[in-house]
Amino acid sequence: MKREDKAARIGALLDELYPAPPVPLDHIDAYTLLIAVLLSAQCTDVRVNQTTPLLFARAKTPQEMVKLSADEIREIIKPCGLSPAKSKAIRGLSEILLARHGGEVPRTFEELEQLPGVGHKTASVVMSHAFGVPAFPVDTHIHRLAARWGLSNGASVEKTERDLKALFAPETWNRRHLQIIFFGREHCPARAHDLSKCPICSWAAPKTRAALEKRHGTGKDLRTKQRGLHAAVHGRIGQGADAPRGIRPR
Ligand code: SF4
Repeated sequence: MKREDKAARIGALLDELYPAPPVPLDHIDAYTLLIAVLLSAQCTDVRVNQTTPLLFARAKTPQEMVKLSADEIREIIKPCGLSPAKSKAIRGLSEILLARHGGEVPRTFEELEQLPGVGHKTASVVMSHAFGVPAFPVDTHIHRLAARWGLSNGASVEKTERDLKALFAPETWNRRHLQIIFFGREHCPARAHDLSKCPICSWAAPKTRAALEKRHGTGKDLRTKQRGLHAAVHGRIGQGADAPRGIRPR
C-alpha cells in the first residue's frame, strides 16, 4: 500500500476514534499553555495538570511570574522534574515576554523558539493550540508510531515531521497529532503484542517490523527486546529528543 493511501486510511480511523481530541494540558490562555508545555518535558500530562494550578494560583501572567524568584518557582514545579532548568526558563521567558513582546506570547515560530526552554515542538504546540496555526508537533511517541505505521522511516524527529506534514492536509495537523497521542496512550502497550489485533498495525506495519515482532514472540514483557527492536526497525531514538532546548533529561 502506498504511504498516501495508508495515511488516508489512518486519518479516517483516527477521525472516527477521536473526532474532537482535547488538548491534554490544562491552560487558560497562550501563556499558561506555553508554561504547561514547557513543564511537560520528561513529565506526564497528569503530573503537569496537578502542578500548574498551584503555580498559576501564584502567577498566571508574565507580570506576576517575574515577581517570583526562580527558587520559588522551582519549589512549586519540583514534581515535574528538571525543576532547576525549567524554573530558570519560566522566569527567563517571562522577563523576555515583558521586555520584548509587551507581555504577550509571540505568534511566530522564530520568536517562540528564541525563548529559553522553548524548542520547536513546544513552539508547535503553542502555535497550534493557542493560535490555531497549522503545526504538527512531533514528540518521541508520534515519531515512533509514524515509523511503526510506515509513514516515515524514523530517521529523525525532523524527518518525521516533514513526512507527516506531506501526508496529511494542513487543516488536519492540529487534531492529527493529538489523535496519534491518544491512540498511542490507549492502544500501544510497552509489552510486545500481537500486531494482527491492532486496528492500525495489523495492516499498516511494514513487513520488516511485523517479521521482527513475530520472531521475538508476543505476550512477554519485551521492554528490553523492544528497545533493540525499535533500534533495528526505526533507528535509535535519542533520549529526550523532544525536550525543549536547554532542558535535557535527568
Ligand atoms: S500494533 Fe501495537 S504498536 Fe502498533 S499501533 Fe497497534 S498497538 Fe500500537
